[in-house]
Amino acid sequence: MRILTMKFGGTSVGSPEALSQAAEIVLTTAQEWEGVVVVVSAANGVTDALMKGALSAAGGDGQTYMEIEGDLRSRHRGVVQELLSPGGESSSLLAMVDEHLAEFTAFCRSIHVLGEVTPRAMDTIVSVGERMNAGLLAALLRRRGATSEVVLSTELIVTDATFQKAAPLMEPTRAHVARRLVPLLADGIIPVVTGFIGATEEGVTTTLGRGGSDFSAAILGDCLDSEEVWIWTDVDGVMTVDPRAVPEAQRIPILSYAEVAELSYFGAKVLHPRAIRPVVERGIPLWVKNTFNPSCPGTRIVKEPDNACGAVKAVTAIRDLSMVTVEGRGMMGVPGIAARTFAAVAGQGASVLMISQASSEQSICFVIPTDHVPAVVKAIEGEMAAELRRRDVDRVSSLDEMVIVTAVGAGLRGTPGVAARTFGALAQANINVVAVAQGSSECSISLVVSANDAARALRQIHSEVILHG
Ligand code: ADP
Ligand code: ASP
Ligand code: MG
Repeated sequence: MRILTMKFGGTSVGSPEALSQAAEIVLTTAQEWEGVVVVVSAANGVTDALMKGALSAAGGDGQTYMEIEGDLRSRHRGVVQELLSPGGESSSLLAMVDEHLAEFTAFCRSIHVLGEVTPRAMDTIVSVGERMNAGLLAALLRRRGATSEVVLSTELIVTDATFQKAAPLMEPTRAHVARRLVPLLADGIIPVVTGFIGATEEGVTTTLGRGGSDFSAAILGDCLDSEEVWIWTDVDGVMTVDPRAVPEAQRIPILSYAEVAELSYFGAKVLHPRAIRPVVERGIPLWVKNTFNPSCPGTRIVKEPDNACGAVKAVTAIRDLSMVTVEGRGMMGVPGIAARTFAAVAGQGASVLMISQASSEQSICFVIPTDHVPAVVKAIEGEMAAELRRRDVDRVSSLDEMVIVTAVGAGLRGTPGVAARTFGALAQANINVVAVAQGSSECSISLVVSANDAARALRQIHSEVILHG
């Protein structure tokens, strides 16, 4: 069976017009495939709003979550009224919306009493966004003549119990997909599956991390042996730079898995970093397409890079970072300092985005998200207490408001002149490069600049190295 798995992101299903457009795309595409599985996100901003409601309740605020409930109710009811009324299923859909939001409020009320929200409770709370939207899209497809059914991904995607960033367990997931989804496809039904959500083997709701519905689509695409996976979003594909930051961004027609993995790892929100893996392993072609410009072919993501190796194809940035430095003249030649430093960092659950080696061994320098800095500095100071007393380590310090800017393209590292051109472009604009990454990957060069310079650095690399390189 030729199966297509496709996913619609938040803005693609965030308004009555967008949902209507998404439904048209599903109906048109379904005519060309033997089976189409649709994965759907919450409407844009809804996951954030649900989280805000729960967090404010935990912080003692008994008002905000009720206001949020009101906003979400009118937004989702508005879709029913505009696209699905009168008659038909509209009253049961309105009841569906009310029921999900009543669940949200009940949770928030308990959280308000308890004064805390656990990651486990948070996953159940945010799942409301995807559940409402799947119900609306499936109803819209039925209204337009298709047979369509909501399938909750809690029945499909089995995960570990790492709430808020769960990892899928592929074997049981494959079995559930075969039992639950494949028969629907065989009957000509279009399943609309909630993205982002999974469940543990015991049935407790989990989520796959923010932006995780791309990952849901990739997991299902793999388990279904889909011929292709399409990610529908609000831009023409993977672009040379975030179009919100640099409007001159251009579509990249074809990219390799390695390149797009690097881009998403270094902050390009367009694809969830973990979404790449299941499809790479199976060699399934992945497309990123624009819901609002469906005739544009989008970006095709393929296994091997094309032959234009060594060119910078895209540039991206990660913000809200700090550079932590451990320094001391007595560190030189002392074995184990780096290992102990990074063990202390890992102990705080902070991921190190970049390590920058100084020319001497007198300092260790690395970049982490700013919100981890106080705990990480404290942990390193604890670990190095003896060295600090002996003055082998002089200090552990941090520089905030840093941004990593990453240029991505296959074969960059082995291509002479790319780094020089990149630095040249920044020098031309008087932008100071605070640190440069060790070339950990074949296909990227990362540099740290101050947050004040980040926007200019992106524009400069984009215009001088990508467009006119
Ligand atoms: P969705 O809700 O469809 O998943 P996201 O907001 O998660 O959409 O991702 C799409 C957004 O990613 C785009 O609107 C764009 O602003 C941003 N983005 C960042 N970097 C890039 C890039 N290199 N190419 C395309 N989009 C990018
Ligand atoms: N709705 C979820 C989020 O906002 C998942 C997604 O959009 O992919 O993170
Ligand atoms: Mg996304």
